[in-house]
Amino acid sequence: MIYIIGSGPAGVSCAHALLSQGLEVTMLDSGIELESERTKILEKLSNTKPENWDLGLINTIKGNTVASTSGSFFKGVYGSDFPYRETDTYLPYEAKNVQPRISLAKGGLSNIWGAAVLPYLDEDIRDWPISVKDLAPYYESILSFMDMAAVNDDLASKFPLYSKTYQSLISSHQTVDLMEDLKVNKNILNKRGFLFGHSRLAVHSKSTNGRSGCVYCGLCHYGCPVGAIYNSSGTLEELKKNKNFHYIKDVIVQKIAESNSTVKIFAASRLKNEPVFFTGTRIYLACGVISTTKILLKSLEAYDRELTIKDSQWFLIPLIRYKKSSGVVNEKLYTLSQLFVELFDLNLSKNVINLQFYMYNDLFLNAIKNILGFTYPIFKFPVNELLDRLMLIMGYLHSDSSSTFSIKLQEDKLVMEAKINKNVNKTISGVYKKIFENRNLFKAIPVPGITKIPKPGYGSHSGGSFPMRLKPKDFETDTLGRPTGFSRVHVIDSTIFPGIPATTITLTVMANAYRIASRYNDT
Ligand SMILES: Cc1cc2nc3c(=O)[nH]c(=O)nc-3n(C[C@H](O)[C@H](O)[C@H](O)COP(=O)(O)OP(=O)(O)OC[C@H]3O[C@@H](n4cnc5c(N)ncnc54)[C@H](O)[C@@H]3O)c2cc1C
Ligand code: SF4
Repeated sequence: MIYIIGSGPAGVSCAHALLSQGLEVTMLDSGIELESERTKILEKLSNTKPENWDLGLINTIKGNTVASTSGSFFKGVYGSDFPYRETDTYLPYEAKNVQPRISLAKGGLSNIWGAAVLPYLDEDIRDWPISVKDLAPYYESILSFMDMAAVNDDLASKFPLYSKTYQSLISSHQTVDLMEDLKVNKNILNKRGFLFGHSRLAVHSKSTNGRSGCVYCGLCHYGCPVGAIYNSSGTLEELKKNKNFHYIKDVIVQKIAESNSTVKIFAASRLKNEPVFFTGTRIYLACGVISTTKILLKSLEAYDRELTIKDSQWFLIPLIRYKKSSGVVNEKLYTLSQLFVELFDLNLSKNVINLQFYMYNDLFLNAIKNILGFTYPIFKFPVNELLDRLMLIMGYLHSDSSSTFSIKLQEDKLVMEAKINKNVNKTISGVYKKIFENRNLFKAIPVPGITKIPKPGYGSHSGGSFPMRLKPKDFETDTLGRPTGFSRVHVIDSTIFPGIPATTITLTVMANAYRIASRYNDT
């Protein structure tokens, strides 16, 4: 039997590729799920027209996702913390100045992701032993089963769409107005290193084949009530229809071993709290970088061995437009990123900087209401004026311009510690300054003094503890993700990325997993 461990984006992509070769596979997964009462609420909502949605049910699924002006917010989904649950029990860790996100849920972190999908550029993966040409066919394979909302615009000149079936989403008024201003100034913006276009999102935009498209309910940050945002659990349900696919949940894999022609998996049953074992011919490991690194370190008995995890630094710059786009608070819109600006400026970074523009969502309003408290009604008018102008830029740097963090296994506990790159603040200040200098082209001014730069790991675009190399040494993998010392174990998530470009990680995690699994017969 071939085993895949993990049902996140990497795991399901691998399963897709193996099944398409007629192979039989079993997926093992910790597989924690949304509570049944919340699942029932979602069923109710998806069977009701959005205009008739019950406000009480909506408030239940909004639950504990709260924003603050410090820029932090707890990103639960459907009012539940299930994506993060039980990590204290099964993946205990100590994090020093690091904010890792780990999931033991069915679908992994795709339950809570922002669905932004932009491929990598060759110049950003020069330290990889493979190139974009090697990934390109698999970007296409992924986008044949994962819907993408996109527009064939200027971004495509550098970032091919890799899909013929993409569909567009309706942009919000703020996006339309900003896009108009950017288009007027396109030539000069391009000369100054800004390439812009509509966001690329793993979202099912229009209803087809009985599946609901986006209904512009503005609830993206709380979890999509109609399932239009891609979640690898959806692909998992599709995979289950294939007779060659088997899924076993509630299994926490602890370590793996290989001898001659067999592999062995040592795990714990989540429900019975007892050891379980599996024996097979091949393992594809897709538990997300932190959990996968732990399994590998434990399997290699490499206690106290310090490895490095690379991270694409996330940052937040609020922006105020000169002119308002009226009535955003009542607009029907989606609240994922609406516009991408890719910044090419060698004075700031040798790699592209990814700027995702987010327009109004009700977390902005809630954060302001929290500050104003009972005085909010007095300030309602100026607050609305502000919201009609406010946007957020969520930016990402390449890992070469970012901080890293170390990871080691001490007994059963992971210890992670940030290694701060002192140039991060300088680079992000440079981005702020560049936008400020071009404020008359953006017709917007970045808000001074409140740029947020969270701890490494917070953006969840991390990896690289067992990097792919042409000639791998200890604690490295070959181009098929096999760690030195293993020939039947393939690591297929971002653990094997030699560096992390800024342009969103998951599409390439999926394409790379598909690439490795497609080469099953080569090994
Ligand atoms: C708030 C947020 C927003 C994000 N937004 C974006 C975005 O817009 N664009 C983007 O590209 N990326 C984004 N990401 C990152 C993205 O979610 C991850 O890159 C992606 O989910 C990684 O997929 P994966 O399959 O490698 O791992 P995961 O999604 O982490 O899945 C891991 C799987 O392994 C299982 N598992 C873990 N440990 C074990 C174990 N020991 N035994 C058995 N099973 C196990 C889990 O249950 C899960 O099924 C975001 C992440 C967060 C947290
Ligand atoms: S607006 Fe967001 S939450 Fe609402 S249907 Fe569209 S994608 Fe889903």
